[in-house]
Amino acid sequence: MKYFSTRDAEKKSFDSAVVIKKGLASDGGLFVPDSLPSLTREDIEKLCGLSYPERAATVLSKYLTDYTYDELLADCEKAYCESSFPGGAAPLRKVTDTLYSLELWHGPTAAFKDMALQIMPRLLSRALTKTGEKNTALILVATSGDTGKAALEGYKDVDGVKIMVFYPISGVSKVQKLQMVTQTGNNVNVCAIEGNFDDAQSGVKKIFSDEDAKKILLENSYILSSANSINWGRLAPQIVYYVSAYCDMLNSGEVTYGETVNVCVPTGNFGNIFAAYLAKLMGLPIGKLICASNDNNVLTEFLSSGTYNRNRTFHTTISPSMDILISSNLERLLYFTAGSEKTATYMKQLSENGAYTVSEEIMSVISENFDGYFADETSTRKTLKHFYDDYGYLADTHTSVALDCAEQYISKTGDTRKMIVASTASPYKFAADVYEAIAHKKASADTGALDDLSALTNTEITYPLKGLAERKVNFDTVIPSEDMLKEVYKFM
Ligand SMILES: *Cc1c(COP(=O)(O)O)cnc(C)c1O
Repeated sequence: MKYFSTRDAEKKSFDSAVVIKKGLASDGGLFVPDSLPSLTREDIEKLCGLSYPERAATVLSKYLTDYTYDELLADCEKAYCESSFPGGAAPLRKVTDTLYSLELWHGPTAAFKDMALQIMPRLLSRALTKTGEKNTALILVATSGDTGKAALEGYKDVDGVKIMVFYPISGVSKVQKLQMVTQTGNNVNVCAIEGNFDDAQSGVKKIFSDEDAKKILLENSYILSSANSINWGRLAPQIVYYVSAYCDMLNSGEVTYGETVNVCVPTGNFGNIFAAYLAKLMGLPIGKLICASNDNNVLTEFLSSGTYNRNRTFHTTISPSMDILISSNLERLLYFTAGSEKTATYMKQLSENGAYTVSEEIMSVISENFDGYFADETSTRKTLKHFYDDYGYLADTHTSVALDCAEQYISKTGDTRKMIVASTASPYKFAADVYEAIAHKKASADTGALDDLSALTNTEITYPLKGLAERKVNFDTVIPSEDMLKEVYKFM
């Protein structure tokens, strides 16, 4: 299988190893596969009898055809091992008769980013060998909180790689910040920027398209690579858990083969939900994909009107990993529905005017598959408490946005099919806000909230977050977003 850029009408193609190494195409587009492998009934029934690492290697081998199955299996077994994901990688928990929570946060940083970032460094390491790369890969990451820590954990001490993470100074939770600034490893750097996530992401994208910067880096034996969800190596492993969840439902008799289930995903950069769409296109029986947003509801508006408009107020919310106004992976959906020429035009309009409108034809294809809802801060808190009080289910703030949107979808459409809600973070990662939503009072302190939440709900603090406040701070640099490249040179 080959890959090309969403914006390239000539479809110049690359192997998956090259694509994983490069991250972003040189025209600014995102890499997409040249065809979609299928998941037949036979495939799915076979996957039902396999472990998570085996399911992952099987699905990945359909996309990463320049990796052998044995390479992928070895990497998946290490990535999704019991010590990294105690109790299993992506457990599906039944919350009500028809609603299931796909818990994607049992990894080393307590957020769903681990599902991809525990495997991607291994894929990149092999990609460097496969492509004969002699230079060091410098990973630049812009993070709204969870990617940064998950990437640091995934890439720390990996040979041939250095990683630098930029986070918005006031856009991440106390726990997220502590997780990052206490990072250890001999090849890591963490830097706060004055601005929001979009500033950080735009800054990283700018460095990636700066030919002079690339030349200087190369003279110093560095090539750039990305760990953001624009990298195909992030997206492909995310397809796996939707397939795995369906297998689990078949195994436990919750569905019979062919019965479609809906999927609701708390969305920021549109990576996680796009992976679910790919699973559907491959043949997994998925009905509607419900895109859940917080007050930054640019996607809700797009899905109902066909107009994407980032010229709006940026809201800092209690679900900060979804505080995004430019959802990069939407470009891949545009490519799949509108083709490369239109995609290139829309992206040009987005960068010049901050907005674009797609045609009705394109919108009708998108609406067949997707529906968008949003939950404001009050609803998110109410829903969090409602699921805790009424179903005994403790969700984090991002998952609560999705639970709220799932309920909105069901009451608006009357669609009673079973619903999988992607649960993207441990409630302990956002303990202060979760505590406040349930107890209706403030926790003692931001990090003390871990203990408060544990006492209130009689549950264990998720293991990677225990003792966080006592760890040594290793990184305290804060810079204006214009200085990001300078900081990269310093690290090099
Ligand atoms: C990253 C993240 C999201 C958003 O996922 P996208 O793939 O960017 O849409 C949602 N919830 C949490 C907890 C996250 O870390």
